Amino acid sequence: MRKINGLLLFFTLPLCLIACRASLYKETRLSMSTLVTVLVSGTAEPDWQELFSRAENEAAVFDHRLPGSPLKELNEGRSPELPVKLIKVLRLAMEIAEKSGGAFDPTILPLSSLWNFDSGGELPDKENILAARNMVDYRRVKIDAQGAVELPPGWGFDLGGIAKGAVVDHIADYLKKEGYENFLIDAGGDILVSGLKRGKEPWSIGIQHPRSKDKLIGLLHLGRAGETRAVVTSGDYERYFVYGGKRYHHILDPSSGYPADKSIAVTVIAPTCARADGLATAVFVLGPDQGLELLEGLPGVEGMVIAEGISPLQKYLVRTTSAFPLTAEELKLAAKRLRSLGGEG
Ligand code: ADP
Ligand code: MG
Repeated sequence: MRKINGLLLFFTLPLCLIACRASLYKETRLSMSTLVTVLVSGTAEPDWQELFSRAENEAAVFDHRLPGSPLKELNEGRSPELPVKLIKVLRLAMEIAEKSGGAFDPTILPLSSLWNFDSGGELPDKENILAARNMVDYRRVKIDAQGAVELPPGWGFDLGGIAKGAVVDHIADYLKKEGYENFLIDAGGDILVSGLKRGKEPWSIGIQHPRSKDKLIGLLHLGRAGETRAVVTSGDYERYFVYGGKRYHHILDPSSGYPADKSIAVTVIAPTCARADGLATAVFVLGPDQGLELLEGLPGVEGMVIAEGISPLQKYLVRTTSAFPLTAEELKLAAKRLRSLGGEG
């Protein structure tokens, strides 16, 4: 009997050692017009097909271009039954619009359609910009307690500044439901980390040089067992065109109708990716002074703004909220890297 027990122990122990050791699984696919990478620590590989098809289905809910989508129906003046998840994101978008005084505005569609960055972008006529600007104002939106949404006729929602973050949150919920605790999701600059890498160490997240692709100016180390954090960067280098020597990019200032010009790149850390995404767009428009002031007042939120400096010697400035997780030394190094790497227009 004893012998058998010993044998059982001998066989089951190595088996458990193999099965119980967590591996790091990685998958990258094109989704939401960007490369989405998911890294998961676990004892079994996630069902990638299921994960990415869920992401696509979720993204479709927030897509104002997709024929038949509830958002397109709403924009076209019909009153579709809105999915709860869409009402939730609309409410969050409205909250960020209010907090930012309209720097983030989900009714940006008339302006964003005019600039047409989805197809590379084009410089609109001034009169058209002024006309479209008058059809952008979150204060004209009404969402009642039942989730019925009202918008003036001819106006429209564009949730491009927050939807990718919402989809990342959805992927995170799916992974958690499947029993995973330690993972990282990166949807082209919208990043969410849960727990720790391999259950042991913080995740490293690079902050990209805004004028030198593939170069980093700093590294964030984030992660704690049982905790989820999102890090989102919005920059003028993501989607833009140059005309007459001037850069025109896809983050628009609703008050002017033109691309926002107070920031070059903004990184926001927040408890959810949708919130971080919306806030990064808002802070980008507000610029370092007002933007960082907004973030300082929000619990669990930190941020960093890179803006144009005041002289050719100081081409860039870097500012952060008081508890942004980079040391004074790391920030100095970031400023130095901004100056020394690339730096062309
Ligand atoms: P990305 O989608 O490249 O990560 P953002 O999260 O900053 O960048 O979102 C930019 C998108 O948000 C634009 O393509 C447009 O759809 C929308 N948008 C542009 N300006 C604003 C704004 N001021 N408020 C809300 N949404 C905006
Ligand atoms: Mg955004």
